[in-house]
Amino acid sequence: MENAREYTMRVLKKYEFRTKKSLGQNFLIDDRIIDSIVSNVPEGAVAFEIGPGIGILTRKLVERARRVVAVEIDEKLCEILKEEIDSDALEVIDADFIEINPNSILSEKAVAVANIPYYITTPIIFKILTSTDMIDTAILTMQKEVSERVVARPGGKEYGILSLVAALYSEPKVLFNISRDAFIPQPKVESSVVRFDKRKLNLEVDESDFLKVVRAAFGKRRKTIANALAGIFNGEKGELKEHLMEIGINPMARPETLSLKEFESITGIIFKKS
Ligand code: SAM
Repeated sequence: MENAREYTMRVLKKYEFRTKKSLGQNFLIDDRIIDSIVSNVPEGAVAFEIGPGIGILTRKLVERARRVVAVEIDEKLCEILKEEIDSDALEVIDADFIEINPNSILSEKAVAVANIPYYITTPIIFKILTSTDMIDTAILTMQKEVSERVVARPGGKEYGILSLVAALYSEPKVLFNISRDAFIPQPKVESSVVRFDKRKLNLEVDESDFLKVVRAAFGKRRKTIANALAGIFNGEKGELKEHLMEIGINPMARPETLSLKEFESITGIIFKKS
């Protein structure tokens, strides 16, 4: 097998492919990193790849996984993939991942693998975590700075909705960092590979109510929790403040200082079920 750099150079030249910045097309060219990512997919598993590009991960995934479903938005790249990767295990879907429902594509549990286009990192993570039960593990390459937010604990400046949602739906772990020179073209920032092992949701309140509360809380940075939630509370702000104090939460607290358990209690008072 050609090494990653040789494969990439040959394919880009053969198809006269010019990478599109608008689609976050930075291709991995370091075999050691590619192998480390792929090794997280158990042999014989089903892999679900988002944004396969010219197939640098895909050509290794088809050797390891029983089936690889790859969703790529760029039509030209879909053609290249079908041409270059001759494997019955591969199914290429020409689509925007944000527009599709993984549950209608996957008939069995899969491991998601993606070197995520940076412009839609957060929606991809949210979608994998909150809106499908067909993906139980995800190995996602993202900007290092985003990975720090994913694994942040309450109170720190990195903590926010991404950290909260990641911890609620999974156990996220940074596996390793990747320097800019492992990509063609080189991105402006360093990257990290994060593994998310999804877990059974353990919430005492309704899931969609909980998500409404955290979205409202983190919707506007720098607001106090009482101000941030006033818009979704069915009553006077004074009443909301009283309820917050009753459950031991300072109405002036910033959302980024509150834990998952505290957001659960807040959901209980905002969406009181009588
Ligand atoms: N997996 C390849 C690699 O590691 O070299 C390519 C990674 S590149 C960072 C991101 C890929 O995602 C590109 O191929 C891009 O065309 C594709 N992409 C961008 N937006 C997408 C979307 N909304 N849905 C599916 N694929 C997308």
